[in-house]
Amino acid sequence: MGGGLGTTPHQAKLLYEWIPAGELLPITQAIGRVFGRLGEKKNRNRARIKFLVSKLGVDEFRQLIDDERAILPHDDRWTAFLPSAEAWEDEPARPGAPEAADDSPAFTEWRRTNVYAQRQDGYSTVTVALPLGDVTSAQTRLLADIARRYVGDNVRTTVEQNIVLRYVSNADLPALHRDLTAAKLAEPGAGTIMDITACPGTDTCKLGIASSRGLAAELRTRMARASFIADAAIEGLRIKVSGCFNSCGQHHVADIGFFGNNRKVDGYSVPHFQVVLGGRWRENAGSYGMAVGAIPSKRIPDVVETLTTRFASDRSGDESFQDWIARLGKKEIGAMLADLKPVPAHDLDPSFYVDWSDAREYSVGDIGVGECAGEVITSTVLELTEAEGEAFEAQVALDEGDLARSDERAYDAMLKAAWALVRTEWSDVPQHPDVIVREFQERFAATGRIKPQFTRALIDRHTAGAPEAPTPESARILADEAQLLIDAVHQFEIREAGATGAVH
Ligand code: SF4
Repeated sequence: MGGGLGTTPHQAKLLYEWIPAGELLPITQAIGRVFGRLGEKKNRNRARIKFLVSKLGVDEFRQLIDDERAILPHDDRWTAFLPSAEAWEDEPARPGAPEAADDSPAFTEWRRTNVYAQRQDGYSTVTVALPLGDVTSAQTRLLADIARRYVGDNVRTTVEQNIVLRYVSNADLPALHRDLTAAKLAEPGAGTIMDITACPGTDTCKLGIASSRGLAAELRTRMARASFIADAAIEGLRIKVSGCFNSCGQHHVADIGFFGNNRKVDGYSVPHFQVVLGGRWRENAGSYGMAVGAIPSKRIPDVVETLTTRFASDRSGDESFQDWIARLGKKEIGAMLADLKPVPAHDLDPSFYVDWSDAREYSVGDIGVGECAGEVITSTVLELTEAEGEAFEAQVALDEGDLARSDERAYDAMLKAAWALVRTEWSDVPQHPDVIVREFQERFAATGRIKPQFTRALIDRHTAGAPEAPTPESARILADEAQLLIDAVHQFEIREAGATGAVH
């Protein structure tokens, strides 16, 4: 329970090791009721089970579920589906059979990357790779015909924006490939570094900050020309791109992930992507990537090339990308990418001020209603998201036992949250800690507009300076305090919006 990506990813916690099939529906009902009762109601950004599980802890959450389950009135429908569920079986359209031969290079390559043996003898699963997840209506009709011919009426979509056909008889693979080729649906490279996942981004999502699809298309084009992806370890990496921190492109669980943000350079907005490395898409998203800094969008292809070529030459034995990233650590990776961070002046290279797949000068002025989160977003929310990113990093550092870094990131998170708040009244307040804390104290703490239990930690930490040797307890408390202050600022923003009638 409680897993989720989004701005602050949470790993799912084990609620029960095992439950009988007949308990699936009542337990789910109990979970729904507990969440309905205790889940966040005012701040839609936090109306997720992951926040409730995180707040209560999984043990207390489980106790609430058990208590709720015990008082649920019995419903026959909880188990009525079981006989038919147990009797259900896949029905292949065609008999399984030995594979038919086709030595053509196109078939061989597609067979290598897009076809997987099934457990059932004589059958394979075939991935229809859809670059950027796109498929036309004409292709969809052809695909329906093809699916009907080879596998019946069952196709599946995947989280990697492809379509999967199961129970393809091995004898049919060459014929299926020919039919997919005629429909322009026989792209090889499924599950490889070329198979990039990208959310809609600024193409159509009003929450988008940078062009995720534009970047993904550019990466595909460049990699198609590059020789470095021939290395098997590189070919197997996954790239995922989100247009903003909301993580619809699942950047947290990619070997190489990116999410859009922007930076001001000489008064101009410049599209950037935050680089997130070493996430695990296997093992049910077994771990999240590490944010290593924002890079101008136009240099992201160089980031991919730098990382992959260095990984190819540097890894020891069969070291995984995740282990390699962990071995190098943030500092060395930062040094590796440092040359890619600077943005040339506008008059020297205006291309940096234009996003991928866009002819216009970049601007974030029209951020608004999103495709996915579906809400209006303000600059305060954007800034709070950065603060949340810092608070997240503080927690990561805490987990890693790096207490000084955790303390510093938690302090930065609180400063960012305070700055976002002060900016609602003084838009160009300098980003100097003394000024931020002074203004925050005078405008919000001393006036009680933000309650003292949320303001004290920042003011105390700023006054006392960095501790010489933070303890695990003090670092943990500061990391928690950072999140509480961020939440308090979110709440303040919502209250203010209610008072002014603004929509959030
Ligand atoms: S809200 Fe989702 S779809 Fe929209 S840009 Fe952000 S990550 Fe992409």
